[in-house]
Amino acid sequence: MNKLQILVVEDDAPVRNLITTTLKTHDYKSIIAENGEEAIRQASSCNPDVILLDLGLPDMDGVEVIRKIRTWSNVPIIVISARSEDSDKITALDSGADDYLTKPFSVEELLARLRVTGRRLAMMQANAGANESVFINGDLKIDFGSGCAFIGDKELHLTPIEYKLLCLMSQNVGKVLTHTYITQKVWGNSWDNNVASLRVFMATLRKKLECEPDSPQYIQTHIGVGYRMMKIE
Ligand code: CA
Repeated sequence: MNKLQILVVEDDAPVRNLITTTLKTHDYKSIIAENGEEAIRQASSCNPDVILLDLGLPDMDGVEVIRKIRTWSNVPIIVISARSEDSDKITALDSGADDYLTKPFSVEELLARLRVTGRRLAMMQANAGANESVFINGDLKIDFGSGCAFIGDKELHLTPIEYKLLCLMSQNVGKVLTHTYITQKVWGNSWDNNVASLRVFMATLRKKLECEPDSPQYIQTHIGVGYRMMKIE
C-alpha cells in the first residue's frame, strides 16, 4: 500500500511534533506548515493525500484556509480545533472540511480518523471514472438508476425523503455532514423544524437500514453537529 502523505498544519510546536511522530511510527509521510499561508502553498505544491488543519492559526482563520483550498482541491481535510464549541466545527464542515478532532485528542483518535479518511480516499479513487450508477457499501446496495436500495437481497421500502437522505449520505461516505447541509440538500432550505424532522426521518431510515438501530453500523450520529455514513470494511 502506498504511504499516504499528510500535510500537518499546526502552529503549536509540541502538538505538531506529537502528530508528526505519531504519523511516522504508523507509516504515514508528513509535511508541515506552521501557518495558513504556508498551508495553502504546501497544499498546492505538494498535493498531499490528507490535510490535518488546526483552526487557530497565527496569520488567518483555518476556515479561510479550507475555503481557499476548496477552490481547486477535494483533498480530505480533518480539522483540529482547541475550541470545543460546535459552531466552529460546523462552520469548518460547511466550508468543506471532511471531519474534525477536538483538542486534546488521543493518538488513537487521530489514527482512527486517518483510517476513516484513508477508506474514503480509496473509495473516491475507486469510483473515479467508474460506473457510478450503483453504490455498494457492506451489505447496502443502492441502484440509482431504478431508485431502489437493498440490504443483501432484501429491498428496503423507503419513503422518498428517506431515499433522498440515504443517497446523500452514500454520496458523501466517510464525511461528516452537518444538519444544515443535509436539510438544505433534502428540503432546499434549513429551518429549525427541518432539523427536528431530519431526526425523525433519520430514525425511521435507521430502523430499515440497520440490524441494530441502537448501535448503528452505517450512519453515525455526531451530537449537535450532524451525521456520517461509515465505509464498511
Ligand atoms: Ca493553534
